[in-house]
Amino acid sequence: MIDSRNLNELHPRVRALAEVFLDACKAAGVDVLVTSTYRDHEAQDALYAKGRTAPGAKVTNSKGGQSLHNFRVAFDVVPRVDGKLLWTTSGATGKLWENIGALGEYVGLEWGGRWKTFPDYPHFQFTGGLSLADFQAGETLEEK
Ligand SMILES: [Zn+2]
Repeated sequence: MIDSRNLNELHPRVRALAEVFLDACKAAGVDVLVTSTYRDHEAQDALYAKGRTAPGAKVTNSKGGQSLHNFRVAFDVVPRVDGKLLWTTSGATGKLWENIGALGEYVGLEWGGRWKTFPDYPHFQFTGGLSLADFQAGETLEEK
């Protein structure tokens, strides 16, 4: 089971965007930790089980093969303040998440915090106009 935090596991174009994004966060004085990049199908299935057949709250609606993490074009981050990871997205921390999301969008990433049905604040992705179905059919991003 692979659930990586390594940017090198991302598609080169997405890794490049992630690096620009992380630099922008640093320049803005925001410390973020990358918590997930590439996940294999087994790791995605384990996440999907949370809040369903395994303990905890639901964290995803995507089974193995249904997440863009499975195709190396998505990554997750969390802000870190005074050594603490701030997962909460309400109140004062909500503003911090908004700033992080805006920085991601500024560098050309899509931010999951904008999603209406299942907002996913930690999530950033770049699909180059491809859909999940395209990736599932074996299409990949151009190298450049
Ligand atoms: Zn994600």
